[in-house]
Amino acid sequence: MNEHYARIIEAIGEDPQRPGLKDTPERAAKAMAYLTRGYQQTVDDVVNGALFPSDCSEMVLVKDIELYSLCEHHLLPFIGKAHVAYIPDGQVVGLSKVARIVDMFARRLQIQEQLTVEVAETIQKVTGAAGVGVIVEAKHMCMMMRGVEKQNSVMKTSAMLGTFRSNQATRNEFLSLIR
Ligand SMILES: [Zn+2]
Repeated sequence: MNEHYARIIEAIGEDPQRPGLKDTPERAAKAMAYLTRGYQQTVDDVVNGALFPSDCSEMVLVKDIELYSLCEHHLLPFIGKAHVAYIPDGQVVGLSKVARIVDMFARRLQIQEQLTVEVAETIQKVTGAAGVGVIVEAKHMCMMMRGVEKQNSVMKTSAMLGTFRSNQATRNEFLSLIR
């Protein structure tokens, strides 16, 4: 990747040998590897068996999970928050694992819509929940720094599974809790 970054620096009309840029290809490659480290992880690694039997059938909500991702169309960041809720059916997953699942998918190339659905389906699969709701709100650098240059637009996406889809009251409870 270092070599490719050196070529990109050349292609934009810069000199990759000048002192300020000499180590940039290596740093940029390391940064990119970090930003896409989700490819090195699996759901099993991330959850690591942190599932616990529970009689709870009330909504579990983890809100304001910080989210940093790269859009797959421009390789530019989108940054925001994810809110994840589910209704357990016999077991719960460790709370920090919910945030780690969001992070694992966020650290891959994405469009926000797909990220939202992947998180919801994974929580569903891992916990066997009666329902899952995920809302992601994010600002996209590809809109803010280029193209239409809309600085304040926030994109919101949602995925509702099971009772979150079929039961209006459940959905409303989720929406009012994250408001
Ligand atoms: Zn984009």
